[in-house]
Amino acid sequence: MDSLSFKIIKTESKTRISILKTTKNLEIECPNFIYPTRRGSHNHLTPDNLELIPEIKCLSIGVGDIITKPGISTLKKYNEYILQKKNPNKQKNETEKTTTLDQPTNTNKDKETEIINKPGIASFYALKNKLIFLTLRDPFLFQMTVPSIKNSVVITSYEGSSVKISAQDYNTLITEANPDIWTNLYSEQLPMPTGKKLMKLTAKNNQWAKNFSTVPKPKQTGFFSIIEGGSEIKQRQNSISQSVDKNCEGIVIGSLFLGETACQRQEILGIINEKIQEDKPKILIGDGQITDVLEAIEAGVDLFCGFFPEFVSELKLVLNLTDLFSLENVLKGDLSKFKGEFYKEYLINICDPKFRDSLKPLVQGCNCFTCQNHKSCYLYHLANSHEMTFDVLITIHNLWQFSNFFVMIREAIKIGKFTEYKKLILDYLEENQ
Ligand SMILES: [Zn+2]
Repeated sequence: MDSLSFKIIKTESKTRISILKTTKNLEIECPNFIYPTRRGSHNHLTPDNLELIPEIKCLSIGVGDIITKPGISTLKKYNEYILQKKNPNKQKNETEKTTTLDQPTNTNKDKETEIINKPGIASFYALKNKLIFLTLRDPFLFQMTVPSIKNSVVITSYEGSSVKISAQDYNTLITEANPDIWTNLYSEQLPMPTGKKLMKLTAKNNQWAKNFSTVPKPKQTGFFSIIEGGSEIKQRQNSISQSVDKNCEGIVIGSLFLGETACQRQEILGIINEKIQEDKPKILIGDGQITDVLEAIEAGVDLFCGFFPEFVSELKLVLNLTDLFSLENVLKGDLSKFKGEFYKEYLINICDPKFRDSLKPLVQGCNCFTCQNHKSCYLYHLANSHEMTFDVLITIHNLWQFSNFFVMIREAIKIGKFTEYKKLILDYLEENQ
């Protein structure tokens, strides 16, 4: 089986441009954005709507969501049905042999062939050409999502129901779901403890990682080790030395954006950079504010999973990134001139009466479906009338803006100007907040 590959193309200090290639031959240019979804979709968008935003190439799906619905057994039946349909001459019972991980009935070669063919969760939700990251932490929820108990982890779904899952069940889920990226089981707590409580939590997670390594692993590639340890450097080092599997294909940085300061976060990311091999891709799960994204990318993060565009859409705010923070605007040092000007804020309140008669698009030069087809006055009317269409149109625009912000970041790295680009935006935001 081909493995997931990661190639660094260009670096600027710790920041890098890279290509992450999945076993399904998807090529993702990093730094990039992983869009958190509810079972592969969004409250206001269908998978077809997502196709309107081509820069969104990576989606995350919560383990808690899919384990409650469709659940492992439905996924297993779905995989069997699709494989049977594709290979009608194959005996049904032959595919069933790999469904339980602890039954070493097939040769390794057979297993690998069948696993790579498993349609999995991407096919189940009709998510074509998207990288799927199966995540334990739900970036939408502020509540603790994975409190651990003795030999299992309890995961809370979006609807609030809790499911207890053992390492064995989790591995079966990974086998059936066949995501591109997945991690070992771990536990996060909110508020993030410090001192002895954090030491205990880190030790528990280290033990989980060790237990996990003894359970037969699914054969899928894309296994990323999770680094825990809260806001304390010592516990982070502890987690790196004891939890990181030497055969992992990447790193997910857990337990950040849970109350630590920006300085602590930078120090933690610095330690991770020092200790983890440069050629391993790094994913950071956070809220995704502009400042956080820029600082994380400067610290060498490759993929950022956050709910910021969703959050601002819920507040009826319009993102203006591609116009205000275009490379041209930022690098010529004119950002401060835009302070307070019409359309020159990075978060626009569309409910403001100044948009009532505006025939301009939400953001000049935005190529999203919303801006190409509708004027600001129409969006103003929809927002103030609480029309559901507004949620769809604003979500499409904000996701388009946020995903294209990463395109601009990559351009800045390519021309060796990321440090300058980042500094000018942060200075502007500090002045204007
Ligand atoms: Zn737009």
